[in-house]
Amino acid sequence: MNMALQFPEPPPLGTILLVGPQRYDLISMEPYQRKDGKDSTLLHWHTHCPDCNAPFIATSSLTVRDLNRRCETHKSPGKWVARKGWRRGKG
Ligand SMILES: [Zn+2]
Repeated sequence: MNMALQFPEPPPLGTILLVGPQRYDLISMEPYQRKDGKDSTLLHWHTHCPDCNAPFIATSSLTVRDLNRRCETHKSPGKWVARKGWRRGKG
């Protein structure tokens, strides 16, 4: 299952994003310029690794897609969190 969430404008700090059992808190943002030259915003989300519970920061653009689910130690590029903590079906 893929997630894509488009913010029409930067959400306020403190915005909480729930992705299944995982919670992301928007703690900071910064302006940046996209490859096509347009101004946009980078969002920094504080969350916890579902494997080791280590806190880390996941970064996204205003289009939130494929957020890092895991810390640097446990992340596996191209893969989503499986099994532990992952709910299939409703939701
Ligand atoms: Zn971890």
